[in-house]
Amino acid sequence: MDKQQEFVLRTLEERDIRFVRLWFTDVLGFLKSVAVAPAELEQAFDEGIGFDGSAIEGFARVYESDMIAKPDPSTFQILPWRAEAPGTARMFCDILMPDGSPSFADPRFVLKRALNRASDLGFTFYTHPEIEFYLLKHKPVDGTRPTPADNSGYFDHTPQAIGMDFRRQAITMLESMGISVEFSHHEGAPGQQEIDLRYADALSTADNIMTFRLVMKQVALEQGLQATFMPKPFSEYPGSGMHSHLSLFEGDRNAFYESGAEYQLSKVGRSFIAGLLRHAAEISAVSNQWVNSYKRIWGGAARTAGAGGEAPSYICWGHNNRSALVRVPMYKPGKTGSARVEIRSLDSGANPYLSYAVLLAAGLKGIEEGYELPAGAEDDVWALTDGERRALGIEPLPQNLGEALDLMERSDLVAETLGEHVFDFFLRNKKQEWEEYRSEVTAFELRKSLPVL
Ligand code: GLN
Ligand code: MG
Ligand code: MG
Ligand code: MG
Repeated sequence: MDKQQEFVLRTLEERDIRFVRLWFTDVLGFLKSVAVAPAELEQAFDEGIGFDGSAIEGFARVYESDMIAKPDPSTFQILPWRAEAPGTARMFCDILMPDGSPSFADPRFVLKRALNRASDLGFTFYTHPEIEFYLLKHKPVDGTRPTPADNSGYFDHTPQAIGMDFRRQAITMLESMGISVEFSHHEGAPGQQEIDLRYADALSTADNIMTFRLVMKQVALEQGLQATFMPKPFSEYPGSGMHSHLSLFEGDRNAFYESGAEYQLSKVGRSFIAGLLRHAAEISAVSNQWVNSYKRIWGGAARTAGAGGEAPSYICWGHNNRSALVRVPMYKPGKTGSARVEIRSLDSGANPYLSYAVLLAAGLKGIEEGYELPAGAEDDVWALTDGERRALGIEPLPQNLGEALDLMERSDLVAETLGEHVFDFFLRNKKQEWEEYRSEVTAFELRKSLPVL
């Protein structure tokens, strides 16, 4: 037994923890949990806990359904809303096959594999997500319009604002679980919040995002509210993005930084961005995986700059250009040696493990192949005409999930990164979602056509 495992067992005793939840994530990005008694834990560390994978989205074909969840002791945390004795704690798990090899269906393994590729090239990958979501008054009846929990706007600070109280409690909870928060504020639309996590290695960030979603939902529930990470719950308000700042390190050195270069951006940084751009369309089905994701990217409010819209629709990069897919944030004078790029397509409904894996793979491809970075877009690309954008070589992101899936299906990069099992399952599952959506007669059609036809 190693030191971390010993620490976990000791803490269970000292804090009178009676339940340990073993967490993992399915292919679609939903958190799964199985609770074990502390007495079982020693064995769980040794051999893992068996479960039936066939019941989990994307995990197994029926004939190979036995799987093993093996807890990662470095992720041990007590759940603050179940801290009083007898308390509850959690650990993230790696999913193994009965022979002890990693399961190809485990999104955490998909990300680990991508991170290993990066480390073969000498890089570690860091991410810093800005997570947007809505607080709703109560859980709406399925299929009906939700009601935002407040009426505030961007950066609003009003006494007794629901969001303020919510953010204070939520952030306290995150911090007590070892998740550091950098910024938080009210976002542009009624009920919309943003909380930005401190940057960390991508595996920790992805775990943290899974924890974050649960904590937000938990705190909302305690306040009689509902938190939703749906990319675009309202037609007339902006969607919820999960912009992520990405950087590569070589040891202690930020590999994107070069003193004196344009925007302090090294050759590695430029090629990484070029990779993100060249592969943006084919990875879109992963970073924006729902039918609804494309309403955020293409919805009218996406272009209401200043009103907190600003979801990217076109494939281009820019320096501090909030209409661009990739933004190179302003260089901070005090922060010598630091450079990062912000990808703005990713939305709050994404599976963070798979998304960071494909984003990393796209960037690394750019570095390995030495892609040249095209000229940056310094204009507001939404304000240009289609012709002007074409002349600048600026292509649109996929218009809908169907188009995104067609592009993904032809992508070697996505197939290699997700691995055959996840790739096939993902395509099958998402094509079905797209087919269901296509065959549904929507409220829009009934409103538009029924009265006049
Ligand atoms: N809500 C916007 C999006 O969906 C982002 C708004 C902002 O942070 N500038 O991407
Ligand atoms: Mg932000
Ligand atoms: Mg924001
Ligand atoms: Mg941002």
